[in-house]
Amino acid sequence: MSAKIIDGKLISQQIKDELRGKCAELMEKDIRVTLAVILVGEDPASQVYVRNKKRACEYIGYNSLSYELPQNTTQDELLELIDGLNERDDVDGILVQLPLPGQIDEKTVLNRIKPDKDVDGFHPINVGALLVGDKGFVSCTPSGVIQLLKRGIPEYDLSGKECVIVGRSNIVGKPMSLLMLRENATVTVAHSRTKDIKDVCRRADIIIAAIGKPRFITSDFVKEGAVVIDVGINRTSDGKLCGDVDYENVRDKTYAITPVPGGVGPMTIAMLMNNCYEAALFHKLGE
Ligand code: NAP
Repeated sequence: MSAKIIDGKLISQQIKDELRGKCAELMEKDIRVTLAVILVGEDPASQVYVRNKKRACEYIGYNSLSYELPQNTTQDELLELIDGLNERDDVDGILVQLPLPGQIDEKTVLNRIKPDKDVDGFHPINVGALLVGDKGFVSCTPSGVIQLLKRGIPEYDLSGKECVIVGRSNIVGKPMSLLMLRENATVTVAHSRTKDIKDVCRRADIIIAAIGKPRFITSDFVKEGAVVIDVGINRTSDGKLCGDVDYENVRDKTYAITPVPGGVGPMTIAMLMNNCYEAALFHKLGE
Protein backbone atom coordinates (compact mmCIF):
# COMPACT_ATOMS: atom_id res chain seq x y z
CA MET A 1 0.00 0.00 0.00
CA SER A 2 1.36 3.43 -0.81
CA ALA A 3 2.08 5.92 1.93
CA LYS A 4 -0.39 8.59 2.91
CA ILE A 5 1.07 12.01 2.27
CA ILE A 6 -0.07 14.32 5.07
CA ASP A 7 -0.87 17.63 3.40
CA GLY A 8 0.09 20.50 5.71
CA LYS A 9 -0.99 23.13 3.22
CA LEU A 10 -4.50 21.75 3.14
CA ILE A 11 -4.77 21.23 6.90
CA SER A 12 -3.37 24.68 7.70
CA GLN A 13 -5.88 26.17 5.27
CA GLN A 14 -8.70 24.29 7.05
CA ILE A 15 -7.57 25.71 10.39
CA LYS A 16 -7.31 29.24 9.00
CA ASP A 17 -10.78 28.94 7.44
CA GLU A 18 -12.24 27.73 10.75
CA LEU A 19 -10.62 30.70 12.50
CA ARG A 20 -11.93 33.05 9.83
CA GLY A 21 -15.45 31.90 10.65
CA LYS A 22 -14.90 32.24 14.41
CA CYS A 23 -13.31 35.66 13.92
CA ALA A 24 -16.36 36.84 11.96
CA GLU A 25 -18.54 35.78 14.92
CA LEU A 26 -16.33 37.81 17.29
CA MET A 27 -16.55 40.82 14.99
CA GLU A 28 -20.33 40.65 15.23
CA LYS A 29 -19.81 41.25 18.95
CA ASP A 30 -17.45 44.13 18.09
CA ILE A 31 -14.43 42.13 19.22
CA ARG A 32 -11.31 42.43 17.08
CA VAL A 33 -8.39 40.04 17.55
CA THR A 34 -5.13 42.01 17.49
CA LEU A 35 -1.59 40.71 17.03
CA ALA A 36 1.45 42.98 17.39
CA VAL A 37 4.44 41.80 15.36
CA ILE A 38 7.91 43.19 16.10
CA LEU A 39 10.81 42.83 13.70
CA VAL A 40 14.26 44.16 14.58
CA GLY A 41 16.73 44.54 11.70
CA GLU A 42 16.56 43.51 8.08
CA ASP A 43 17.16 39.76 7.99
CA PRO A 44 15.51 38.73 4.67
CA ALA A 45 14.17 35.39 6.00
CA SER A 46 12.65 37.16 9.03
CA GLN A 47 11.05 39.74 6.74
CA VAL A 48 9.38 36.92 4.78
CA TYR A 49 8.13 35.23 8.00
CA VAL A 50 6.73 38.52 9.30
CA ARG A 51 5.05 39.28 5.98
CA ASN A 52 3.43 35.82 5.99
CA LYS A 53 2.16 36.31 9.53
CA LYS A 54 0.63 39.67 8.62
CA ARG A 55 -0.97 38.11 5.53
CA ALA A 56 -2.49 35.32 7.63
CA CYS A 57 -3.93 37.95 10.03
CA GLU A 58 -5.45 39.80 7.08
CA TYR A 59 -6.95 36.60 5.65
CA ILE A 60 -8.60 35.61 8.92
CA GLY A 61 -9.73 39.11 9.79
CA TYR A 62 -7.37 39.93 12.64
CA ASN A 63 -5.90 43.34 13.15
CA SER A 64 -2.10 43.27 12.89
CA LEU A 65 0.14 46.00 14.28
CA SER A 66 3.57 46.08 12.77
CA TYR A 67 6.74 47.44 14.41
CA GLU A 68 9.84 47.39 12.22
CA LEU A 69 12.83 48.60 14.21
CA PRO A 70 16.36 49.31 12.97
CA GLN A 71 19.22 46.83 13.41
CA ASN A 72 20.87 49.05 16.05
CA THR A 73 17.81 49.14 18.34
CA THR A 74 18.87 48.80 21.97
CA GLN A 75 17.46 46.18 24.32
CA ASP A 76 15.93 48.93 26.48
CA GLU A 77 14.12 50.40 23.49
CA LEU A 78 12.68 47.02 22.59
CA LEU A 79 11.67 46.30 26.19
CA GLU A 80 9.96 49.69 26.38
CA LEU A 81 7.92 48.84 23.28
CA ILE A 82 6.94 45.48 24.76
CA ASP A 83 5.95 47.10 28.07
CA GLY A 84 3.66 49.47 26.19
CA LEU A 85 2.04 46.62 24.22
CA ASN A 86 1.66 44.56 27.42
CA GLU A 87 -0.43 47.39 28.87
CA ARG A 88 -2.69 47.92 25.87
CA ASP A 89 -6.16 46.37 26.22
CA ASP A 90 -6.66 46.11 22.45
CA VAL A 91 -3.52 43.97 21.93
CA ASP A 92 -4.09 40.21 22.39
CA GLY A 93 -0.80 38.78 21.20
CA ILE A 94 2.80 40.01 20.96
CA LEU A 95 5.27 38.31 18.69
CA VAL A 96 8.96 39.20 18.51
CA GLN A 97 10.49 37.70 15.38
CA LEU A 98 13.70 35.77 16.10
CA PRO A 99 16.65 35.92 15.73
CA LEU A 100 17.39 39.26 17.37
CA PRO A 101 20.58 41.31 16.75
CA GLY A 102 23.55 40.46 18.98
CA GLN A 103 23.19 43.46 21.34
CA ILE A 104 19.80 42.16 22.51
CA ASP A 105 19.36 39.17 24.81
CA GLU A 106 16.59 36.96 23.43
CA LYS A 107 15.64 35.44 26.76
CA THR A 108 15.27 38.81 28.49
CA VAL A 109 13.02 40.01 25.69
CA LEU A 110 10.84 36.90 25.44
CA ASN A 111 10.41 36.78 29.22
CA ARG A 112 9.19 40.38 29.21
CA ILE A 113 6.10 39.56 27.13
CA LYS A 114 3.10 39.02 29.42
CA PRO A 115 2.42 35.26 29.47
CA ASP A 116 -1.21 35.83 28.43
CA LYS A 117 0.03 37.67 25.30
CA ASP A 118 2.86 35.23 24.55
CA VAL A 119 1.24 33.66 21.48
CA ASP A 120 4.54 31.99 20.50
CA GLY A 121 4.39 29.98 23.73
CA PHE A 122 8.04 30.67 24.62
CA HIS A 123 7.57 32.26 28.08
CA PRO A 124 8.69 29.98 30.96
CA ILE A 125 5.21 30.31 32.51
CA ASN A 126 3.66 28.82 29.38
CA VAL A 127 6.37 26.18 29.08
CA GLY A 128 5.75 25.25 32.72
CA ALA A 129 1.98 25.13 32.14
CA LEU A 130 2.54 22.60 29.35
CA LEU A 131 4.76 20.53 31.63
CA VAL A 132 2.18 20.25 34.40
CA GLY A 133 -0.82 20.04 32.07
CA ASP A 134 -2.30 23.49 32.80
CA LYS A 135 -3.88 25.82 30.26
CA GLY A 136 -1.38 28.03 28.43
CA PHE A 137 0.04 28.83 25.03
CA VAL A 138 1.91 25.98 23.36
CA SER A 139 4.78 26.57 20.95
CA CYS A 140 3.27 26.68 17.45
CA THR A 141 5.37 24.17 15.49
CA PRO A 142 4.88 21.21 17.87
CA SER A 143 1.18 21.94 18.29
CA GLY A 144 1.00 22.06 14.48
CA VAL A 145 2.49 18.56 14.36
CA ILE A 146 -0.26 17.28 16.68
CA GLN A 147 -2.89 18.79 14.37
CA LEU A 148 -1.23 17.16 11.35
CA LEU A 149 -1.40 13.78 13.05
CA LYS A 150 -4.98 14.19 14.25
CA ARG A 151 -6.41 15.65 11.08
CA GLY A 152 -4.11 14.02 8.51
CA ILE A 153 -4.48 10.44 9.80
CA PRO A 154 -7.54 10.56 12.09
CA GLU A 155 -7.83 6.76 11.99
CA TYR A 156 -4.37 6.37 13.57
CA ASP A 157 -4.51 6.12 17.37
CA LEU A 158 -1.52 7.83 18.96
CA SER A 159 -2.15 6.25 22.34
CA GLY A 160 0.45 3.66 23.35
CA LYS A 161 2.60 4.20 20.25
CA GLU A 162 6.40 4.32 20.43
CA CYS A 163 7.34 7.85 19.42
CA VAL A 164 10.93 8.90 18.83
CA ILE A 165 11.56 12.63 18.58
CA VAL A 166 14.96 13.52 17.17
CA GLY A 167 16.00 16.95 18.50
CA ARG A 168 15.60 18.53 21.94
CA SER A 169 15.35 22.25 21.25
CA ASN A 170 13.19 24.45 23.46
CA ILE A 171 10.94 25.44 20.57
CA VAL A 172 10.41 22.06 18.91
CA GLY A 173 11.83 18.86 20.43
CA LYS A 174 11.10 19.42 24.14
CA PRO A 175 7.51 20.74 23.82
CA MET A 176 6.89 18.07 21.17
CA SER A 177 7.82 15.38 23.69
CA LEU A 178 5.33 16.78 26.23
CA LEU A 179 2.55 16.99 23.66
CA MET A 180 3.11 13.39 22.56
CA LEU A 181 3.10 12.32 26.21
CA ARG A 182 -0.23 14.12 26.56
CA GLU A 183 -1.46 11.93 23.67
CA ASN A 184 -0.37 8.87 25.68
CA ALA A 185 2.49 7.92 23.37
CA THR A 186 5.61 6.32 24.81
CA VAL A 187 8.17 9.00 24.14
CA THR A 188 11.91 8.87 23.53
CA VAL A 189 13.87 12.04 22.82
CA ALA A 190 17.03 11.47 20.79
CA HIS A 191 19.75 14.07 20.19
CA SER A 192 23.35 14.49 19.09
CA ARG A 193 24.69 12.40 22.02
CA THR A 194 22.25 9.52 21.56
CA LYS A 195 24.05 6.21 21.06
CA ASP A 196 22.93 3.95 18.20
CA ILE A 197 20.40 6.52 17.03
CA LYS A 198 19.47 4.38 14.02
CA ASP A 199 18.43 1.51 16.29
CA VAL A 200 16.50 3.89 18.54
CA CYS A 201 14.61 5.29 15.53
CA ARG A 202 13.96 1.83 14.12
CA ARG A 203 11.90 1.02 17.22
CA ALA A 204 9.56 3.90 16.53
CA ASP A 205 5.96 3.73 15.35
CA ILE A 206 6.21 7.50 14.95
CA ILE A 207 9.39 9.44 14.15
CA ILE A 208 9.38 13.21 14.50
CA ALA A 209 12.56 14.71 13.07
CA ALA A 210 13.57 18.21 14.23
CA ILE A 211 17.30 18.23 13.70
CA GLY A 212 18.25 20.78 11.03
CA LYS A 213 20.36 18.31 9.01
CA PRO A 214 19.31 17.70 5.39
CA ARG A 215 18.00 14.15 4.77
CA PHE A 216 19.51 12.82 8.03
CA ILE A 217 16.77 10.23 8.52
CA THR A 218 17.42 7.69 5.81
CA SER A 219 15.40 4.61 4.99
CA ASP A 220 17.40 2.41 7.38
CA PHE A 221 16.22 4.54 10.35
CA VAL A 222 12.62 3.72 9.62
CA LYS A 223 10.53 0.69 10.55
CA GLU A 224 8.12 -0.60 7.90
CA GLY A 225 4.73 1.08 8.40
CA ALA A 226 5.96 3.92 10.64
CA VAL A 227 4.57 7.45 10.59
CA VAL A 228 7.26 10.02 9.79
CA ILE A 229 6.88 13.73 10.52
CA ASP A 230 9.59 16.01 9.17
CA VAL A 231 9.95 19.35 10.96
CA GLY A 232 13.28 20.21 9.31
CA ILE A 233 13.65 23.07 6.88
CA ASN A 234 17.02 23.07 5.17
CA ARG A 235 18.33 24.60 2.00
CA THR A 236 20.42 22.40 -0.29
CA SER A 237 23.41 23.69 -2.29
CA ASP A 238 21.16 24.19 -5.35
CA GLY A 239 18.88 26.46 -3.30
CA LYS A 240 15.98 24.01 -2.91
CA LEU A 241 14.21 23.30 0.37
CA CYS A 242 14.54 19.88 1.94
CA GLY A 243 13.67 18.34 5.26
CA ASP A 244 15.56 16.25 7.80
CA VAL A 245 14.14 13.11 6.20
CA ASP A 246 15.32 11.50 2.97
CA TYR A 247 11.74 11.73 1.70
CA GLU A 248 12.10 9.96 -1.66
CA ASN A 249 13.69 6.87 -0.14
CA VAL A 250 11.73 6.78 3.11
CA ARG A 251 8.23 7.48 1.77
CA ASP A 252 7.34 4.00 0.49
CA LYS A 253 8.27 2.37 3.77
CA THR A 254 5.88 4.51 5.79
CA TYR A 255 2.22 4.42 6.68
CA ALA A 256 2.15 8.20 6.43
CA ILE A 257 4.69 10.96 5.94
CA THR A 258 4.87 14.76 5.66
CA PRO A 259 6.62 16.39 2.70
CA VAL A 260 8.94 19.41 2.82
CA PRO A 261 7.79 21.93 1.76
CA GLY A 262 4.07 21.61 2.36
CA GLY A 263 4.10 19.58 5.58
CA VAL A 264 4.86 21.02 9.02
CA GLY A 265 5.95 24.44 7.65
CA PRO A 266 2.52 25.95 6.93
CA MET A 267 1.15 24.64 10.25
CA THR A 268 3.26 26.96 12.39
CA ILE A 269 1.46 30.11 11.23
CA ALA A 270 -1.94 28.41 11.45
CA MET A 271 -1.27 27.53 15.10
CA LEU A 272 0.00 31.03 15.81
CA MET A 273 -3.31 32.32 14.48
CA ASN A 274 -5.11 29.85 16.73
CA ASN A 275 -3.16 31.10 19.77
CA CYS A 276 -4.14 34.69 18.89
CA TYR A 277 -7.79 33.67 18.84
CA GLU A 278 -7.43 31.96 22.23
CA ALA A 279 -5.71 35.08 23.59
CA ALA A 280 -8.59 37.27 22.43
CA LEU A 281 -11.16 34.96 24.04
CA PHE A 282 -9.24 35.24 27.30
CA HIS A 283 -8.74 39.02 27.19
CA LYS A 284 -12.03 40.12 25.75
CA LEU A 285 -14.52 37.47 26.88
CA GLY A 286 -12.74 36.16 29.98
CA GLU A 287 -12.83 32.59 28.64
P1 NAP B 1 18.08 23.34 16.96
O1 NAP B 1 17.73 24.27 18.05
O2 NAP B 1 19.35 23.53 16.18
O3 NAP B 1 18.07 21.86 17.54
C1 NAP B 1 18.46 20.77 16.77
C2 NAP B 1 18.40 19.52 17.60
O4 NAP B 1 18.84 18.45 16.77
C3 NAP B 1 19.31 19.55 18.83
O5 NAP B 1 18.62 19.07 19.94
C4 NAP B 1 20.48 18.65 18.43
O6 NAP B 1 20.99 17.88 19.51
C5 NAP B 1 19.82 17.70 17.46
N1 NAP B 1 20.83 17.19 16.53
C6 NAP B 1 21.69 17.90 15.79
N2 NAP B 1 22.51 17.07 15.10
C7 NAP B 1 22.13 15.83 15.42
C8 NAP B 1 22.59 14.54 15.06
N3 NAP B 1 23.61 14.39 14.20
N4 NAP B 1 22.00 13.47 15.59
C9 NAP B 1 20.96 13.63 16.45
N5 NAP B 1 20.48 14.80 16.85
C10 NAP B 1 21.06 15.90 16.34
O7 NAP B 1 16.93 23.30 15.85
P2 NAP B 1 15.34 23.55 15.96
O8 NAP B 1 15.10 24.98 16.15
O9 NAP B 1 14.73 22.56 16.87
O10 NAP B 1 14.94 23.18 14.47
C11 NAP B 1 15.14 21.89 13.92
C12 NAP B 1 14.76 21.92 12.45
O11 NAP B 1 13.38 22.27 12.36
C13 NAP B 1 15.50 22.98 11.62
O12 NAP B 1 15.67 22.48 10.31
C14 NAP B 1 14.55 24.15 11.60
O13 NAP B 1 14.72 24.96 10.45
C15 NAP B 1 13.22 23.43 11.56
N6 NAP B 1 12.10 24.21 12.11
C16 NAP B 1 10.97 24.25 11.37
C17 NAP B 1 9.89 24.94 11.83
C18 NAP B 1 8.64 24.94 11.00
O14 NAP B 1 7.86 25.86 11.06
N7 NAP B 1 8.40 23.90 10.23
C19 NAP B 1 9.93 25.62 13.05
C20 NAP B 1 11.09 25.54 13.81
C21 NAP B 1 12.17 24.82 13.33
P3 NAP B 1 21.82 18.54 20.74
O15 NAP B 1 20.77 19.15 21.61
O16 NAP B 1 22.48 17.38 21.35
O17 NAP B 1 22.75 19.55 20.13
